[in-house]
Amino acid sequence: MNQLSTPWDRQAFPALPAVSFEFFPPATPELHQKLWQALERLAPLAPRFASVTYGAGGSTRERTHETVVAIQERLGLRPAAHLTCVGATQSEIESVAKRYWQAGIRHIVALRGDPPEGKGKFVPHPQGYRCAAELVAGLKKVADFEISVAAHPETHPDALSPAADLENLKRKQDAGAARGITQFFFDVELYLRFRDKAVKAGVSMPLVPGILPVTNFRQVQKFASRCGASVPASLARHFEGLDDDPETRKLVAAHVAGEQCRRLQAEGVHEFHFYTLNRAELTRAICHLLGIRARDTQSLAEDSVDRAAVRG
Ligand SMILES: Cc1cc2nc3c(=O)[nH]c(=O)nc-3n(C[C@H](O)[C@H](O)[C@H](O)COP(=O)(O)OP(=O)(O)OC[C@H]3O[C@@H](n4cnc5c(N)ncnc54)[C@H](O)[C@@H]3O)c2cc1C
Repeated sequence: MNQLSTPWDRQAFPALPAVSFEFFPPATPELHQKLWQALERLAPLAPRFASVTYGAGGSTRERTHETVVAIQERLGLRPAAHLTCVGATQSEIESVAKRYWQAGIRHIVALRGDPPEGKGKFVPHPQGYRCAAELVAGLKKVADFEISVAAHPETHPDALSPAADLENLKRKQDAGAARGITQFFFDVELYLRFRDKAVKAGVSMPLVPGILPVTNFRQVQKFASRCGASVPASLARHFEGLDDDPETRKLVAAHVAGEQCRRLQAEGVHEFHFYTLNRAELTRAICHLLGIRARDTQSLAEDSVDRAAVRG
């Protein structure tokens, strides 16, 4: 009998992908506990970095800082701090960045940011940065941070055109960004077309797919309408009738995201960024399907000592 190759055939995908995980800073003691449960479950998967978001309008400045530093100190992971241009002068942002550098944080996810919900369109602070490209340039003047930026496979809603949005991505690269992390998407073809166009526009940095495991389909529809991402009818069909069935929903969600990653891997993608929403189980299941296994904490600690030695 012929041996059939399964979609998860390790020979078909010999290289293990690199992964990174995104979290948000907790606002309450209960959420703080949930975040740390998720971090402790995901840390043994040895992500390339763990990033922490910056609340709308800079509302989480202190909490983001505390979480980023704690991830480095308590887990030995390499953290990345998100930072936005919203509601702050250039010198305020520079002092936030200096504080990160002094705390040993070397990776910033530099974003324009959005105003708090219901507050209309983004308006730059009169003494602030007008866009993410300006922020990247400003951060590079503070110190030689590794900088990631946002990339928008379905075009940012404020962009004049898809071509103008790609020019903006190229400006972020030219200002010093090392990688783009995409807004979440579900249609693999869409990402592939975007990647091709970006390369044609001169973007040579990696464009790491942002993967959003669907914990709650209605919430995903809401997120998507805010950021201009499309939700394919096939995805809606997968989650049809599961609103009150969280167990089945989880199994379906792991399959959907696992299949999305597998198709991306077949197209040469070797790095994924997971929007964890501070929950471990789906991200852990998807990573497992990708062949990633938990490592013991001793080797993680040793890696972190090595990294510290490299940092000097
Ligand atoms: C991976 C990731 C992480 C995120 N994390 C956060 C977070 O922690 N906190 C948060 O508040 N938000 C976050 N966001 C959301 C992000 O802030 C929004 O998508 C925001 O609306 C745009 O940010 P940007 O960095 O892409 O902006 P920019 O790159 O500045 O682009 C914004 C828009 O302006 C246009 N533009 C820029 N420069 C020019 C110019 N010179 N002329 C004309 N048009 C121009 C661009 O084409 C685009 O349409 C994240 C998004 C992603 C993908």
